[in-house]
Amino acid sequence: MPTIIDGKEVAAQVLAECAQEIAELKSQGITPGLAVVLVGEDPASKVYVSSKVKKCAELGLHSEKIVLSKEATQEEVFAVVERLNRDPTIHGILVQSPPPPQIDEAAIVRAINPAKDVDGFHPENVAKLALEDSSGFVPCTPAGCMRLLAAAGVETSGKEAVVVGRSMIVGKPMALLLVAKGSDATVTIAHSRTKNLAEVCRRADIVVAAVGIPDFIKAEHIKDGAVVIDVGINRVEDASRKSGYRLCGDVDFEAVADKTHAITPVPGGVGPMTIAMLIKNTIKAAR
Ligand code: NAD
Repeated sequence: MPTIIDGKEVAAQVLAECAQEIAELKSQGITPGLAVVLVGEDPASKVYVSSKVKKCAELGLHSEKIVLSKEATQEEVFAVVERLNRDPTIHGILVQSPPPPQIDEAAIVRAINPAKDVDGFHPENVAKLALEDSSGFVPCTPAGCMRLLAAAGVETSGKEAVVVGRSMIVGKPMALLLVAKGSDATVTIAHSRTKNLAEVCRRADIVVAAVGIPDFIKAEHIKDGAVVIDVGINRVEDASRKSGYRLCGDVDFEAVADKTHAITPVPGGVGPMTIAMLIKNTIKAAR
């Protein structure tokens, strides 16, 4: 039977560590503060932003939610970021992705003070990750995946890892973390143009799926005894649910789980870790 890696439980451990650190900082008169900027009305983004703000409140963090209309201009978003860059009560800033099409997301990310870039998307933090300079911020989702591997006791050193997906949010930083000194995996990044994907994935002791296609990774992609981390969060129609949809990962869990040594479920795997690592980054920013 595979180990089902419980992201809710590991996230709760991370948040318990955070609670201690927050208490320590507060005793020194510092309340870590996070600002979350939402531009437009993307339904998934609204849910993510609300849960981030709610988690801050639960932990006694200061948080500010700034909502701009879907017609907001680049200048308006810049103005908000610049105000937050100057605000001493705000230590972390994130602009929820994806913004509406008139907004140049990369330019907004570059405008965030790298010392407040708790998403870890600013070029300075991307460079620090590549340089293995621990003073930067690591993107929350891949950082959460690494923590899940550690919590499940998965040895990465010398192991073959295949990361499916090359996004700057998940795939690339995940690959950098796995290959870094200390993790020491041998890493392949696969993507939409990769030939013989199933064959490439079958080499892997560890498969990380960050594709954005429901149930994309099948049994043929997985070697017996591999560890599978499913980053995917996809909404698929489900008339039997009140919401009309259910969440599903990038891995066909039913088809794959029995072949694995350990696997993350969706929901309840990587998802809860992202927010926990965001809180951790906010505390680091406050320090
Ligand atoms: P993205 O769309 O930016 O990247 C998808 C990647 O998949 C691309 O690099 C592409 O090359 C690759 N890909 C697409 N089709 C492929 C194919 N046929 N074969 C191989 N590779 C293929 O997506 P993203 O932002 O990296 O997110 C990936 C998934 O992770 C999505 O489901 C997203 O919702 C989810 N996600 C979850 C969290 C979380 O907190 N758990 C955070 C971020 C993203």
